[in-house]
Amino acid sequence: MRIESIEVTHDVAPPRARPIRDALQVLDGGGTVHVTVRARDGLRDVVTGTSSTGFGRMRAAPGALAAFVAEVLVPEVIGADPFLVRGIRDRLWRHTDYHGTAGFALLGIAAIDVALWDLVGHALGQPVWRLLGPVRDRMPAYAMVGWLNFSVEELLPIAEKAMAQGFTGVKMKVGCATLEEDVTRIRAVRSVIGDGTRLMVDANQVFDLPEALRRGRVFQELGCFWFEEPLRADNHAHLAELAHALDIRVATGENDFGKRQFRDLFERRAVDVVQPDLRRAGGATECLEVAAMADAFDVAYASHGGGPHLHLLAAMPNAIYMESGFLPDGARLDDGCIRLPEGPGFSQPDWRG
Ligand SMILES: [Mg+2]
Repeated sequence: MRIESIEVTHDVAPPRARPIRDALQVLDGGGTVHVTVRARDGLRDVVTGTSSTGFGRMRAAPGALAAFVAEVLVPEVIGADPFLVRGIRDRLWRHTDYHGTAGFALLGIAAIDVALWDLVGHALGQPVWRLLGPVRDRMPAYAMVGWLNFSVEELLPIAEKAMAQGFTGVKMKVGCATLEEDVTRIRAVRSVIGDGTRLMVDANQVFDLPEALRRGRVFQELGCFWFEEPLRADNHAHLAELAHALDIRVATGENDFGKRQFRDLFERRAVDVVQPDLRRAGGATECLEVAAMADAFDVAYASHGGGPHLHLLAAMPNAIYMESGFLPDGARLDDGCIRLPEGPGFSQPDWRG
């Protein structure tokens, strides 16, 4: 089988009517890059694989990434056997090394990697998770629904909706101007979800070490399950100090790039729950390898976001959660879990009926 063509398009999102906010940034809408890989096996029909790379802000970013993928990466991949997923990744890493293989270059490599796995699934008529030697056919999910722009009064029905949809874990943003405001918001959500539901808090990198220690001690007293991105993502040394000092699990990883940055996190014992992002970590292949490494260090894995990640989590023994937003109206989790879908490639759950 040979790759015949790769189509790269992008769209720019309209501004959000009500932008969402965390402690670091306002997410007012960005856009998406769409990659479609087409391959042919002799005279057989064409098989395709697709990927979507979303941006929560920066409307210029989708166009810039699409141009990079189309002009820099695609010419290196045309004619290759799409089943050689790791071979293509290695070739693209070498090709982009001049830029430093992180940041934008790695987002581009990830876009092609995800499309290749999707194509392999379609070529074999199987969902990707079945090709990975899975450990499970259903995956626990938690709801990231507590954005910082919501008032305390608005958080209450949001937490109620998460409970009605069957989530057994809820995440909310922290990092208000004062610790007291964070505590008020946490107590409000806890009053709705009860003691039997896990509550995670996410600071999106805004604290320094003394403040993360001060607030983390309070979050653990409040029974929070993990403290996410308490510090700058690239300060692994301070993350290690924090993880050693606190009892609450330290979670990070959505802003780490490539398995070698993750290796440093694990070697320093700087993380209890690692959270790779499919785009920034470098794609499906890289996430699988990060998970295997995490498992060897007895570190739990919880994806940043869902989508194709759902299939990968099924094959990770140390995976504890998929991150989700709200389900479509009327949908409900099955015992806190999403059933892995049966459609080919990176198929997604069908919530109708
Ligand atoms: Mg986060």
